[in-house]
Amino acid sequence: MSTIERVAVIGGGLMGAGIAEVAARAGLDTVVVESSEDAAKNAAQRLERSLHRAAERGKIASADEVLDRIRVTTDLEQVADRQLVVEAIVEDESAKTALFRRLDEIVQDPEAILASNTSSIPIMKLAVVTSRPQQVLGIHFFNPVPVLKLVELVPSLMTSDDTLARSRAFVEGPLEKQAIDCQDRAGFVVNALLIPFILSAIRMYESGFASAEDIDQGLVLGAAHPQGPLALADLIGLDTTKAVAESLYEEFKEPLYAAPPLLARMVDAGLLGRKTGRGFYTYD
Ligand code: NAD
Repeated sequence: MSTIERVAVIGGGLMGAGIAEVAARAGLDTVVVESSEDAAKNAAQRLERSLHRAAERGKIASADEVLDRIRVTTDLEQVADRQLVVEAIVEDESAKTALFRRLDEIVQDPEAILASNTSSIPIMKLAVVTSRPQQVLGIHFFNPVPVLKLVELVPSLMTSDDTLARSRAFVEGPLEKQAIDCQDRAGFVVNALLIPFILSAIRMYESGFASAEDIDQGLVLGAAHPQGPLALADLIGLDTTKAVAESLYEEFKEPLYAAPPLLARMVDAGLLGRKTGRGFYTYD
């Protein structure tokens, strides 16, 4: 089984920068591809900030040594020699299928793995636009990537055993993550359980059953959750929470996945949680 040494991450946003960081920290040669010069500059700054913070906390010996292994570019052709490409661009099916078509043309290694970090788009939709669906799978990381240990591995019906085995060796070996296996269904394991839990908390709050503070405190103090479901929704972003709920609802048509009206109204109002300063709570 060939070891993966040269990787690329497409999209250097919140998740892509995190994935690139863990790959470079693991000693791998890492290319990050962004869609514009401005976005590339932001991705580079995001990586520098995070790595300098890691160095200050003593998690890595030197930020510069890790940064030397990362090349941020806007030129997709630079992924030609990669053994693994992880796509982490916007959650938009047509953007992702267009990208997978291009990756299939550009990536030269016939054994290269083409992975997606998508949270809700079926892996099969990405696999079928390539000439190598057996080498396409989901490798789903969690935010913040350098901190959270979990990775969900999501083979489609066409992913080969070898692709799955090499992906597992990659995430559990150099990346030091722990993998769980999921079928190619909306939400995979974690979001399929977490999102209805958060939606139930929103319905409870919406009905006036209890205050946001009391709902969250109940779960923190009574069930030892690190934070309550409404605080967690604010952290994830209410737009993202709603989008993932909609894709779960679309797939399973179960009422428990339906976004409550209050969530929709808050998103309409731009009350998206921490990132806009107000959601179920207010932030400075
Ligand atoms: P983000 O908006 O922070 O980053 C997306 C980045 O992709 C942006 O920097 C954008 O400039 C870039 N981009 C867009 N189109 C591109 C293209 N064609 N080529 C190169 N770069 C392009 O989003 P994010 O939160 O990092 O999410 C990225 C992916 O990860 C999504 O599929 C999302 O569902 C998934 N995901 C997100 C989370 C989360 O907690 N945010 C968790 C797991 C998975």
